[in-house]
Amino acid sequence: MQLVIELKSLDEAQWRERLTPDQYRICRQAQTEPPFSGRYYFHDQVGCYHCVCCNGALFSSEQKYLSGQGWPSFWAPLHQRAIKTRLDERGDVVRTQVVCARCQAHLGHLFEDGPPPTGLRFSINSAALKFVAVEV
Ligand SMILES: [Zn+2]
Repeated sequence: MQLVIELKSLDEAQWRERLTPDQYRICRQAQTEPPFSGRYYFHDQVGCYHCVCCNGALFSSEQKYLSGQGWPSFWAPLHQRAIKTRLDERGDVVRTQVVCARCQAHLGHLFEDGPPPTGLRFSINSAALKFVAVEV
């Protein structure tokens, strides 16, 4: 069991040091990885997806589904309090940004075209996630 990283001590330079360039660009600068490029899109093992920045548990394989869009997709987070959403007004279209509640890492975007029971699609960059398998 890894300890949760104490985040208040990390500034942007320290994040840059701790993360790979891809992880930094996505999690701290809110970029998006190219579709179908991430390691977790077709990933279907049983387990939990953690924040690559702070190791907080974000999503479970139980809510993961193949959306056809090219990014790991979940119809719900592991816990409502694990993530936060806010408006992303950078593009032509206003989208809902999904961030880690604990460390504010950019994770992806939320769309309302997901499957039942929520109808939601949390479209998450693989680079923002770290998978931990459940022993069965
Ligand atoms: Zn985090």
